Amino acid sequence: PAIAAQPAQAAGPQAAYLNARLPVAQRVHDLLGRMTLEEKVGQMTQAERGAIDADRDQITSLALGSVLSGGGSVPADNTPAGWADMVDAYQAKALATRLKIPLLYGVDSVHGHNNLVGATVFPHNIAMGATRDPGLVRKEEQITAIETKATGPQWAFAPCVCVTRDLRWGRAYESFGEDPGLVIKMETGLEGFEGRRKGDLATNRHVLATAKHYAGDGDTKFGSSTSGTYTIDQGVTVTDRKHFAKVDLAPYVVAVKKYGVGSIMPSFSSIDWTEDGVGNPVKMSASKELLTDVLKQKIGFDGFLISDWEAIHQIPGDYATQVRTSVNAGMDMFMEPYSAPQFVETLLAEVKAGRVKTSRIDDAVSRILKAKFELGLFEHPYTDRSLAGTIGSPEHRAVAREAVAKSQVLLKNSRHALPLRKNERIYVAGINADDIGNQAGGWTVTWQGSSGDIIPGTTILDGIKQNSSHVTYSEDASAPTSGSDVGIVVVGETPYAEGVGDVGNGHTLNLSDADKANIDKVCSAIRTCVVLDVAGRPQIVTDQLSKTDAFVMSWLPGSEGAGVADVLFGKRQFTGKLSVTWPSSEAQEPINIGDRNYHPLFPYGYGLRTRPHHH
Ligand code: BGC
Repeated sequence: PAIAAQPAQAAGPQAAYLNARLPVAQRVHDLLGRMTLEEKVGQMTQAERGAIDADRDQITSLALGSVLSGGGSVPADNTPAGWADMVDAYQAKALATRLKIPLLYGVDSVHGHNNLVGATVFPHNIAMGATRDPGLVRKEEQITAIETKATGPQWAFAPCVCVTRDLRWGRAYESFGEDPGLVIKMETGLEGFEGRRKGDLATNRHVLATAKHYAGDGDTKFGSSTSGTYTIDQGVTVTDRKHFAKVDLAPYVVAVKKYGVGSIMPSFSSIDWTEDGVGNPVKMSASKELLTDVLKQKIGFDGFLISDWEAIHQIPGDYATQVRTSVNAGMDMFMEPYSAPQFVETLLAEVKAGRVKTSRIDDAVSRILKAKFELGLFEHPYTDRSLAGTIGSPEHRAVAREAVAKSQVLLKNSRHALPLRKNERIYVAGINADDIGNQAGGWTVTWQGSSGDIIPGTTILDGIKQNSSHVTYSEDASAPTSGSDVGIVVVGETPYAEGVGDVGNGHTLNLSDADKANIDKVCSAIRTCVVLDVAGRPQIVTDQLSKTDAFVMSWLPGSEGAGVADVLFGKRQFTGKLSVTWPSSEAQEPINIGDRNYHPLFPYGYGLRTRPHHH
């Protein structure tokens, strides 16, 4: 629907909301008073770049509040200038509306500004959790904020503050770990994104953050039971309120009360309270109890809620019911990538029919406008490109490399196999030794990520070669040379995002046959055998471990693979500790610290140290 003929309250030059010296609350109040219902509903709507790109005037005609790039929805010119030009062109369309309310542009900067080729790509959160270094996570997200904002987007759908309780979840790597205490410790990332003081958001060094996915996304049930068959991703959290508060909700209390997080994304998953009798799951996007009563009222969240990608389409009922239920539950902005016009039309009709109160609309819009004022968008709507030169800079990459080194977890080290000595003769096997796409994982350039040379940076093999001029590499471990001092076998997963994980590997935590064969070939032929696991989560290595001298969890390091070699060669000590429990078999899942009958291969928190060499 087009915006109806406009009332008298157009924005004169004296409009209070345009006065940057006035307090945000006053500006919000003034602007809200000038808006039509159509303009308000537009602010609550977020469309996908791919859906509006061909018809950018929709931004003006629907008075859209926000546009997103879903994973991999990048501009044709995927460079800093290509991004900034695109975002600014959309912004011009938003500024062509009657009240000139600027657009908020959101992206999934979940391990750096990972959609952009050339950005600094950090290890995924599960690795950051292994560093146990909150200051490093703050630095990571500070760099991510700078690199993101310098290309246009002012909003990151990150960090994921999920507490992963079952490694079969395909998003386990997006979690800082299985212990809510560890996740809370790593919420320093929120300060990196948003800054310490409110004024920070309006600078070119910070973006609005999103704590996601509220709540219990990593604590869903998997498999079949008498009460049904459960999928793990977008599944059902079957629990009582006490456990939920302790494990799933706790990070949000801190995100709100300590860090004043700007936005929160409700989860695709559902909640099924055991106290109320199992079998009545409610989608998080439809839960008034959790969105309004608990989060906004009890915890005091004063930012806005952004629904996940078409998440409301999973609420039972027709589209009008879905929209009404979610708005009335407390959702403020709607990620409706391909149905923005239908959303606007439907919500307008619901309000006009009296099924959604205008006070609820005003509350939602006030929260969204507050963020836009705090971001300084009314004063500086266009991209400040002055820090674009720092994207992927040596300084930023050095921080990512440090994070890689600190995240490596040494799980076995017999006969002092590690650290290696400079210039040892090294035989390296396994595709993941020399594939930067595999080493970056999902959410890298594309949603799912992909194998191959997709971003600039160093592979693990590059790093090894920087430390020894006697390196032989064979992807499939053909003819391991007996002249080698050390064999390094790199095993692991290929990229994936969401769902249940590595498709190529049959959705399991098991090592592939090729990886098992590589371990057998190299470890039987070469005296000292080191195995590295490049994967988003622990894999089952119970039968392989005795064949190795050293075993290292490398996680998904991102663009700076050379950080792995830093610890292998003793330039830095191994200090990483497991952020999740390492199961001895897939059948042990879910297994978490504190469980009864806890007999994992390696417990949560495990990790050996090495002493650095003095070259
Ligand atoms: C994911 C979110 C993400 C959104 C936008 C969804 O599929 O669950 O984490 O922010 O897509 O890309």
